[in-house]
Amino acid sequence: KALAIKKLWQSKSFGNRKALTIENFIMIKPDGVQRGLCGVIIKRFERKGYKLIGLKMLNPTEEILKEHYKDLADKPFFKKLVNYISQGPVIAMVWEGVDIVKQGRRIIGETNPLDSAVGTIRGDFGLEVGRNIIHGSDSVASANREINLWFKADELIQWKNHSTEWIYE
Ligand code: ADP
Repeated sequence: KALAIKKLWQSKSFGNRKALTIENFIMIKPDGVQRGLCGVIIKRFERKGYKLIGLKMLNPTEEILKEHYKDLADKPFFKKLVNYISQGPVIAMVWEGVDIVKQGRRIIGETNPLDSAVGTIRGDFGLEVGRNIIHGSDSVASANREINLWFKADELIQWKNHSTEWIYE
């Protein structure tokens, strides 16, 4: 399976860091795209040392959004949420690197931009929970589920980043 090949490749590339090297699903929501924040958002992950291995722009269907957010189906804001994201377009991405899921949440901030520290994406660029610019998976298990939902195996690009040895010791 593609995932097994990927894991093998990671173990070669990152030596003793392999156990912690994982992937995360990050999505720039329609407000982030409309407000011209794609570049700064991508830069924040890049400059930290994370590696982009998948990226596409799409207009998400209600079907994929209902699956993506299925854990929130009972929430009163669910319909509004699906409507917000389905306006599209979004930028769906997969980022790879050490501890990327937990660190991704730190880069993004809290769910509510008003609770998010300055220096985080939501803390710097947002005001409302229903316009919070970006999605990032909240656990390794949901990252894997979401990557499989949004990307086909051949849409993930395995490439060698030549600065890896200057990012990881
Ligand atoms: P996160 O995106 O930080 O993981 P959740 O999974 O709890 O947060 O919620 C998913 C998304 O639903 C949020 O990013 C936000 O866009 C929206 N949302 C969450 N809570 C509310 C709310 N109270 N009102 C409107 N939208 C909300």
